[in-house]
Amino acid sequence: TQDLIVHSEKLAVAGQFAAAIAHEIRNPLTAIKGFMQLLMRDMTTDKSRFFDVIFAEMNRIEMITNELLILAKPQLIKFTKKDVRFLMQQVVSFMDAQANMNNVLIQVDYGTGDLVASCDENQLKQVFINFIKNAIEAMPDGGIIKIQMRRSAGNVAEIRFIDQGVGIAEEELAKLGEPFFTTKESGTGLGLMVTKRIVQQHEGDVRFRSKLGEGTTVEMTLPIA
Ligand code: ADP
Ligand code: MG
Repeated sequence: TQDLIVHSEKLAVAGQFAAAIAHEIRNPLTAIKGFMQLLMRDMTTDKSRFFDVIFAEMNRIEMITNELLILAKPQLIKFTKKDVRFLMQQVVSFMDAQANMNNVLIQVDYGTGDLVASCDENQLKQVFINFIKNAIEAMPDGGIIKIQMRRSAGNVAEIRFIDQGVGIAEEELAKLGEPFFTTKESGTGLGLMVTKRIVQQHEGDVRFRSKLGEGTTVEMTLPIA
């Protein structure tokens, strides 16, 4: 336990540090973006493609700083009793458009009976969104994401996200959730870190099973009330 406490204190300090840096980066970035936009208005077209690159890279910095800020936000988690299936329904209808654009179909099996958990609604939705986003991104040519929800023994909700994507190499499985571990050109490598922490706070668990070229199954559990 002593080790655990020291570890979590270190993480908390690192988080605050990250947030401070993220904040310092964000303000000048906003100014730069504003002036760039002004400059772009009287720019010849042959130069404007440079601006596209600059903007894409600035958006990337912005994305990373935003995720760092979320990560380090003082944890004001508010637990209320919610039917997790209902939260999933909302997330799926919200993600459907993005899935469609990428030729991905989301199929959900909500199971039978309710799955009421004591949870922070927004944080849990964030978890679902992150898993679905990763699944979509793992299928550049499209495919199907299957989501299965059920109640298993011992008052536990089991939620699976199954994709037919690129899969994860065995030696990379252990790195999932490490800050900045990403295999994507424009990834932040922070999504799973945030996700794992939220699931932990809900006393749940996340496991990955994957085969390169075949797909990935994310299985999360959540105690239910
Ligand atoms: P990001 O999505 O920004 O890369 P994440 O923390 O969400 O960051 O994910 C880290 C890495 O884990 C991804 O870059 C990818 O290599 C791997 N990964 C996560 N989910 C999946 C999935 N469903 N299929 C394949 N790889 C995945
Ligand atoms: Mg991600």
